[in-house]
Amino acid sequence: MDFSRFILWRIQSGISQSRAGLVILQKKVAGLTEAIVERFLLRARRAAGLRGVANVLVTSSAVLRSLNRQFRGKDKTTDVLSFPSPTSKSGRGNKFAGDIAISADVAADNAARLGHSPAEEVKILALHGILHLAGFDHERDNGKMARKEARLRHALKLPSVLTERAQFAKKISRRRGTSHGMLMRRKA
Ligand SMILES: [Zn+2]
Repeated sequence: MDFSRFILWRIQSGISQSRAGLVILQKKVAGLTEAIVERFLLRARRAAGLRGVANVLVTSSAVLRSLNRQFRGKDKTTDVLSFPSPTSKSGRGNKFAGDIAISADVAADNAARLGHSPAEEVKILALHGILHLAGFDHERDNGKMARKEARLRHALKLPSVLTERAQFAKKISRRRGTSHGMLMRRKA
């Protein structure tokens, strides 16, 4: 299945409910299975207060690059992209929150630099995507999302080398423009 077309179709059609909650590991990550990611998503969504379910694709840097180009006009790869459901304005009563695409390649890279496992990094990136689907935006909120993310990482027993990570993110964002992206909600 061509997942980028799948996401494009879902976003354009607004028909999303039928496949919501799907996890696809297109690239293998040591210690992760689709079932493990599903269980983590459930915990992370509850912790973040995200009501709708999310689809997660773990794939290559090439696919992230293609999605980043199609949806954000940035022809470069990135660690995680979030695609909020166009119908989830308030998040209330909605069963589908959106899609998250994660690069297994960038996750492995981040993990090696930060000293934890690629599986933990994929979970960290999934949590980051969930917070975006919940409406947080660290680019405009004066640290609100970062504080929430730190609390949730602790609650979900994920590594939190915050200072190192912040410095790393700064380095990366200088190099790449922005470290990751969120597709802004489309206006109805
Ligand atoms: Zn982000």
